[in-house]
Amino acid sequence: MRIVSGIQPTGSLHLGNYLGAIRQWVRMQDALQPGQQALFFIADLHAITVFQEPASLRQATREIAAAMMAAGIDPARAILFNQSQVPEHAELAWVLECIARIGWLNRMTQFKEKSGKDREGASVGLFAYPVLQAADVLLYKATHVPVGDDQKQHLELARDIATKFNTDYGVELFPLPEPLIAAAAPRVRSLRDGAAKMSKSDPSDMSRINLTDTADDIRQKIRKARTDPEPIPQDVKGLEGRPEARNLVEIYATLQDRPVASVLQDYAGQGFGQFKPALAEVIVAALEPINARFRDLLAHPQAIDAALANGAAQARALARETLAEVHAAVGFLK
Ligand code: ATP
Ligand code: MG
Repeated sequence: MRIVSGIQPTGSLHLGNYLGAIRQWVRMQDALQPGQQALFFIADLHAITVFQEPASLRQATREIAAAMMAAGIDPARAILFNQSQVPEHAELAWVLECIARIGWLNRMTQFKEKSGKDREGASVGLFAYPVLQAADVLLYKATHVPVGDDQKQHLELARDIATKFNTDYGVELFPLPEPLIAAAAPRVRSLRDGAAKMSKSDPSDMSRINLTDTADDIRQKIRKARTDPEPIPQDVKGLEGRPEARNLVEIYATLQDRPVASVLQDYAGQGFGQFKPALAEVIVAALEPINARFRDLLAHPQAIDAALANGAAQARALARETLAEVHAAVGFLK
């Protein structure tokens, strides 16, 4: 078993990234058996599909590394690195771009969403991004890839690319990666709009809880979070058609590893005026230790850079093996 997953340094990490991705990664890392590996990377090559200020990109990469370590990713047990320090990602992506078909990429819904109306003005990288993602996992012959539902289509594409490569060259080089869909990983919604997901790139900071927010920031954001005037319902059915209310209850339940129904039992009939302060305290309690570790780590940027360089060296050793096989299969001279 080899798990691979990544996160873009496009802003600071939020509660959605934590509950939907990083907390799961930490649990997977903690459950690794001897001989199993987990690789987690900061996807800086992906980030530049949309222009990033160089200084911000550098800072965001360090901050995300620090936030991941603060949340429990342990560089002694998992391989933690940033993507651009392992040039084999880009090299394999090129080979796979010659395997993937334009028609396949045209069907990717994320490109349609991210490029919006200005398709012609989007970067070629943004269009080809899912192929780089395929390279990210195939480079390590990943068997399992933790994905949110926004990424399921891209993993399907990675499987199609792996199959076509193996068939075209008559090899059994790439195993087909399986999705790992975590049981307790909700889609966390924006605090301002229950129809949108919580996102790093949302211009409104009030829409998300950052892992680096202070206790007072968190209390204020939850107090101002959008809800409806109805009280907390008795059961899960009562949350239908109430995305903002559902979101707040789900955050509470997920942070406490409890079913939504059990949280509803505790608060049924109460208004959000009573529920919100309780929720804020649950979030503060969960994030405060992460926040404190984050600040300690960030005070020593050289230590972060050293941890990433060490992770990159480990990742490169694995990546080089796969790439040597790819070169041989494709017919590149040694
Ligand atoms: P961006 O807005 O730049 O796309 P993002 O907030 O969507 O940023 P990503 O780096 O695209 O974050 O995703 C990192 C991981 O976090 C992925 O596994 C993704 O599925 C997960 N994730 C992102 N947003 C949420 C959310 N609101 N709820 C749960 N999981 C999320
Ligand atoms: Mg995203």
